[in-house]
Amino acid sequence: NNNIILDYNLDLLKNKTIAVIGYGNQGRAQASIMRDSGLHVIVGNIRDKYYELAQKEGFEVYEIEEAVKRSEIGLLLIPDEIMKEIYEKKIGPIISSKKEYVLDFASGYNVAFGFIRPPGNTDVVMVAPRMIGEGMVDLHKQGKGYPVLIGVKQDSSGKAWDYAKSIAKGIGAIGLPGGVAVKSSFEEEAAIDLMSEHTWVPILFAAIKACYDVAVKEYGVSPEAALLEFYASGELSEIARLMADEGIFNQMIHHSTTSQYGTLTRFFKYYDQIKKIVEDEAKDIWNGNFAKEWTLEQLTGYPVFYRLWKMATESDMAIAEKELYKTLGRIKDGK
Ligand code: NDP
Repeated sequence: NNNIILDYNLDLLKNKTIAVIGYGNQGRAQASIMRDSGLHVIVGNIRDKYYELAQKEGFEVYEIEEAVKRSEIGLLLIPDEIMKEIYEKKIGPIISSKKEYVLDFASGYNVAFGFIRPPGNTDVVMVAPRMIGEGMVDLHKQGKGYPVLIGVKQDSSGKAWDYAKSIAKGIGAIGLPGGVAVKSSFEEEAAIDLMSEHTWVPILFAAIKACYDVAVKEYGVSPEAALLEFYASGELSEIARLMADEGIFNQMIHHSTTSQYGTLTRFFKYYDQIKKIVEDEAKDIWNGNFAKEWTLEQLTGYPVFYRLWKMATESDMAIAEKELYKTLGRIKDGK
């Protein structure tokens, strides 16, 4: 299968300086694994606690502009929402003044939707881990890899795909058990990420909240029993683990026949309704309408975002959850 890459070499990265821009969740993990891989990594960050943390952890740390100046390859690992501004102020102009550069992203969003357009001398590549930084480091310590999606938006040197594969190797994704790089694109990565965020995740949340509201308010179930059944027990994470290990349907054999029958009949009953929702959401993602909606929300100071956060966290279910989690010692003083 040409889309699947299980291993590669580090030749293109050796004897080069790699700047990790942003020392947060992804930056810290990718910098430490690349250093472990024997590569020369420097960190670019604004002067704050992350800057000091990177220094304390033994990296040469510079202001972002300086790190870009000193490097041949840059990994842009700052939050997607501020990336365009930082790119335009501190990164783009410096890359333009160089002969060539390789700029790597861990998510497709800004490039896919046209917010960031690097100059023609630049290889624009994506190596997007399907995992949070801590998970990557944990697996690396166990000698294991993890899945990444890779892509190329602009191939200036003719070696952009090779750079993407080398970076995947350097950050410990491939060449180790469990590791795989899947050939994809910035557009595809951004869209499928958003598809999860706009469909099965909120649909799952809505279903759980509706179960809670109906059980507690219409059938007199206690909030504690409802919460523990619907998610607080952690059974959901067991199911998710089994889905990944054994398959979405195959894992059902671990549940009772009653459960299997109920799940299969309702799965087929609701499929068409859900598919309609997914089609509507997918359309707004792929045609860029969602990206416009989100930019507008950011420009106007996040009014909808904050209102909905408030509604969610002030709901009866969230309040009952707080009480239960306090009693169980999962949170202290509501934090
Ligand atoms: P984090 O929020 O963890 O890291 C942010 C880094 O950017 C920190 O060093 C932070 O420093 C810096 N930063 C924040 N604000 C600014 C600013 N205004 N100016 C300059 N630097 C700033 O981000 P993530 O690691 O989560 O995300 C990085 C990229 O990785 C994104 O493209 C994301 O989509 C992608 N990704 C993330 C995954 C995840 O699980 N988190 C998984 C896969 C990909 P400070 O806060 O001190 O300013």
